[in-house]
Amino acid sequence: FIPSLSGKHVLITGASTGIGLSLSKKSLQEGAFVTLVARKSDKLEEAARFLIKEVQCSPNRILTKVSDVGDYAAIARVIEEALTWRPIDVLICNAGITRSGFFEDVSVEDLNAVVQTNLLGTVYPVHAALPSLKERSRSHPVAIVFIGSLASLAWLYGSSVYTGTKHAVKGIAESLAMELVPFNMRVNLVCPGFVESAFLDDVSTDPELVEGMRWTCLYDRRRAQSADEVAKTSIAGIKAGSFLITTTPYLGSLIAVLTRG
Ligand code: NDP
Repeated sequence: FIPSLSGKHVLITGASTGIGLSLSKKSLQEGAFVTLVARKSDKLEEAARFLIKEVQCSPNRILTKVSDVGDYAAIARVIEEALTWRPIDVLICNAGITRSGFFEDVSVEDLNAVVQTNLLGTVYPVHAALPSLKERSRSHPVAIVFIGSLASLAWLYGSSVYTGTKHAVKGIAESLAMELVPFNMRVNLVCPGFVESAFLDDVSTDPELVEGMRWTCLYDRRRAQSADEVAKTSIAGIKAGSFLITTTPYLGSLIAVLTRG
């Protein structure tokens, strides 16, 4: 669908660490211009310096923008500024957080943060960018990429609200894909399993919960995939125009375990 990312503009939310950073690296390695979005400016600038050194690319190929994806006005401004740099070809909604724990133990503040970031923070950038993406698609293929999770496809023990937001992301991706059929656009839903990143530091270490996750989700941090592996599979799927991109080798067996009940 998109034969090459060379010269394309890829905007990635949550780009300063983990999967977002690896997606940024892979996009730059393929010759793209990349806008990196995250909340903490120091980590964002550190990420940009790392990428310039790692990829050995010109700083002119990277734009950094500080924003909270859960703040519509802020993310809409970032989209506008990124568009004045160059038209967006690939929008990757990756920013996401977890606050795992038994349902009643998760604070209301944490519940709100997970919904605001994972659900609204995924919808907002797409809503703000869609008119320009449609316009761009008149002359170039355009991709909207949602970073879901295995929690988009199945349940995740001890992460009920996170799972709810990731199921919602799948619903949004499916419905939007239908709506965009008349355009030269694709929606991609990436569903990684466990990935080694700072994200896993926020998974509860309560032994009872970890044991439950081990039995129901095959959770074992030592078996987590690398963010680079996820980025490689994701970019290949985006270029191919695949709707569902699963990145974990054991997702098939996991779903078999889950659906056995
Ligand atoms: P990380 O914690 O490593 O990275 C999260 C990134 O998102 C950071 O750049 C962070 O920067 C940014 N971010 C967080 N909240 C916001 C916000 N409100 N606005 C803007 N940026 C934000 O996590 P991962 O790379 O592991 O996770 C990325 C995505 O992958 C998430 O959607 C997650 O749900 C999904 N995923 C992760 C899995 C895993 O096991 N790691 C498995 C399956 C899916 P800052 O804090 O500065 O804003």
